[in-house]
Amino acid sequence: EVPPIDADFYDISDRLTTDEREIQLKVRAFMEKEIALIVNEYWLHDSFPHEIIPKIAELNICGINYEGYGCAGKSSLLEGIIACELARVDASIATFFGVQSGLCMGSIYRCGSEEQKQEWLPKLQKFEKIGAFGLTEPEVGSGAAGGLTTTCEKTENGWKLNGQKKWIGNATFADIVIIWARDVADNQVKGFIVRTETPGFSVEKIKDKMALRIVQNGLITLTNCMIDEKDRLQNANSFKDTTKVLQATRAGVAWMAVGCARGAYENALAYTTQREQFGKPIAAFQLIQNHLVEMLSNLTAMQTMVFRLSELQDADKLKDEHASLAKVFCTMRTRDIVSRAREVMGGNGILLEYNVARFLADAEAIYSYEGTKEINSLIVGRSITGFSAFV
Ligand code: FAD
Repeated sequence: EVPPIDADFYDISDRLTTDEREIQLKVRAFMEKEIALIVNEYWLHDSFPHEIIPKIAELNICGINYEGYGCAGKSSLLEGIIACELARVDASIATFFGVQSGLCMGSIYRCGSEEQKQEWLPKLQKFEKIGAFGLTEPEVGSGAAGGLTTTCEKTENGWKLNGQKKWIGNATFADIVIIWARDVADNQVKGFIVRTETPGFSVEKIKDKMALRIVQNGLITLTNCMIDEKDRLQNANSFKDTTKVLQATRAGVAWMAVGCARGAYENALAYTTQREQFGKPIAAFQLIQNHLVEMLSNLTAMQTMVFRLSELQDADKLKDEHASLAKVFCTMRTRDIVSRAREVMGGNGILLEYNVARFLADAEAIYSYEGTKEINSLIVGRSITGFSAFV
């Protein structure tokens, strides 16, 4: 008899409160019932299932670890668990959610004024408005800290924004985008809540991606886009404030990587117990078991790492280097896990209908966004050596 698949080998769920566990299972049930069966089709057609947005809103999980403004004020651990559950079924849906909850709402929650929080967070929390986050540019990715070329200039009529932003998730249908731009007066990075109907704002969908195909990434062009002072993030005064947002979202991406790895592992394990060759299930072969155990050991190390990461976050002790280390390690190990998952499934591993192919492709994007392996490694390297090796 085949034992049930339990990818939570060290029973991390046992450390959750009853409330956290209930929410975890609610999200899992939703993803398995509403999302699992439709994602391959949407992935294939490079399109987004807009009909699921009200259903995700109903779960009431957006901005779950923020206090006030319609948010539930629960733990960052729960926020991580949710990211993991979403990505366990589909990393694109997890990314859509992460952009809304972590990057967009997080920017307003951490860098906005009281009025800005009151104006936007309740609507974003309920998905009545959709948000995006624009930091990366066509010519500036890793070097965003000192190199942003999008400019903001204070004029009599407000702020004038000019430049381009590339890769911006949710941008094609967002109501607002947080735009990060360099002030021509003091050279500091400032943030703006830009309404997408503003004259001078345009967006073009980035087509033909081979990863996270459900996520609608856009190339934004800002041409003399005029933004009121009231829509400038009042507490974003330099790139240091941007990194406050990224610290939390990188922790979230580490959790997403765990979810992506877990989904691939579970699919692969189930497959190996059913697929027979040489007269027995391939799971009975030593070399296959070795793959499965290597996958599970990495997955378990990742799970314990992000669990502790969230404990640090909940104790207000999280540092950039903690989040970066987890982002590097988990996305790196996920790449290994999804590729082994593909391997033990033979030819079927590359067919979308067997699910693992999607995880394999999506892991590539997760590996590179929110700071590549190199950039996050350099953040950790700077912290442990005292030397900055960025330039
Ligand atoms: P580059 O910066 O050009 O890097 C290329 C290579 O050079 C990488 O391997 C990098 O690690 C390496 N490298 C660069 N500098 C150094 C150095 N000093 N030392 C060693 N190696 C170095 N951005 C947003 O603002 N909003 C979004 O919503 C968003 N969503 C995304 C979704 C997807 C699917 C993808 C792929 C990207 C998204 N991004 C988004 C952008 C993402 O954050 C960038 O792709 C990422 O930061 C890397 O930048 P780059 O692609 O320009 O690569």
